Amino acid sequence: MGQTVPDINSLPYADGDFFAFEQLLTDKERDRLAEIRQWLDREVRPIAVDYWNRAEFPLEIIPKLAELDVVSPVRRQGYSNLFAGIVHAEFTRADTSIATFMGVHDGLFTGSIEALASEEQKQEWLPDIYSLKKIGAFGLTEPLGGSDVAGGTRTTARKDGDRWILNGAKRWIGNATFSDYVIIYARDVADNQVKAFLVDTATEGYKATKIENKISLRSVQNADIVLENVVVPDTHKLAGGNSFRDTNKVLKVTRLAVAWQAVGQQLAAFDVARRYAVERHQFGRPLASFQLVQEQLVKILGNTVSSMGMMVRLSQLEDAGVAKDEQSALAKAFTTARMRESVAIGRALLGGNGIVTDYEMAKVFADAEAIYSYEGTYEINTLVTGRAITGISAIV
Ligand SMILES: Cc1cc2nc3c(=O)[nH]c(=O)nc-3n(C[C@H](O)[C@H](O)[C@H](O)COP(=O)(O)OP(=O)(O)OC[C@H]3O[C@@H](n4cnc5c(N)ncnc54)[C@H](O)[C@@H]3O)c2cc1C
Repeated sequence: MGQTVPDINSLPYADGDFFAFEQLLTDKERDRLAEIRQWLDREVRPIAVDYWNRAEFPLEIIPKLAELDVVSPVRRQGYSNLFAGIVHAEFTRADTSIATFMGVHDGLFTGSIEALASEEQKQEWLPDIYSLKKIGAFGLTEPLGGSDVAGGTRTTARKDGDRWILNGAKRWIGNATFSDYVIIYARDVADNQVKAFLVDTATEGYKATKIENKISLRSVQNADIVLENVVVPDTHKLAGGNSFRDTNKVLKVTRLAVAWQAVGQQLAAFDVARRYAVERHQFGRPLASFQLVQEQLVKILGNTVSSMGMMVRLSQLEDAGVAKDEQSALAKAFTTARMRESVAIGRALLGGNGIVTDYEMAKVFADAEAIYSYEGTYEINTLVTGRAITGISAIV
């Protein structure tokens, strides 16, 4: 008996793009995507599991990322949001921790400056940030303020002449153990509004401690931050960051990026599960020859393609400048729910090998949990959508 094992790379749909969404990109974008994909295969995938196991971030990747020149593809380099989304999914497909490093430095940190800083501030700060000479973090969440942080920011900012004094604590802040800067969102005691500040992490009174024992995104260095009378010059208050409404301009775009991560996570699950099903034999036959196993692979594929279809359309709306908050919210809730199902199927399809990171799937499975919870949890994004379609808020 025994069936010949097909060469996985020569199978139809080897890239997992079942509905040819990449055909919607321009020729220039497709060429650039191919270049980035090759780079990820060469530089990221081979080292990702080892760093994840050790809960360390591969700092040596930063100069390589600088050479690849991938920060701010839309605003700075003129690519479409669709291209940026597909690239972010590809980063996630290679490794969710590296994708999250980029999501924090590029989406949340650089995005805050691009959206909220004055022209003068941008000219001063952005060149080093685009070239990754300076690394950034984004400090919004607090130990006591998560889903309700909009109204519940406890970190305070007090104006004192031409400077501000910041006090408080932040939690979960990605990249913050080694970043040069962190954008801190703090409540101005004078008018009670949440304002944005570029804080130099070398400033006295600033302390970041790594959060240990994570089961997800282990390579991402998340920190607890304490701010004790941290002095920030007024020139480092982001000129356009004057209320939580302003912060939301940043979050709308990054939520979209996280939903693209859910696509990338499913592509990763599909890649690993399909390869395993084709190569692993039981009862003298490849797992892929069993009907139940094919159904599982098709379920992952269907979830991935439907998530990607939603994201392609949402990115097109974003490119047209008409995407709405609630559309990003539905996309984040829907794609992450599909993702959770897909990675669980993938995990089970590898049997016992699905629970050791050596086969990659256990990392894919565990990393999905962070995606499900950050950038607005599944529940909060569902309720943002529910509010939009009923006119009634069930959040508070
Ligand atoms: C790996 C990781 C990286 C992160 N990186 C950053 C970062 O770089 N910067 C940053 O600022 N933050 C970051 N975060 C924080 C993240 O955005 C928060 O974890 C998230 O917003 C949820 O807040 P919380 O963890 O405090 O949960 P909580 O708000 O305490 O929620 C707990 C549970 O209650 C549910 N819940 C809460 N309110 C409601 C409600 N009204 N109705 C129904 N259910 C509700 C939630 O959905 C959730 O299931 C990160 C988090 C993780 C895990």
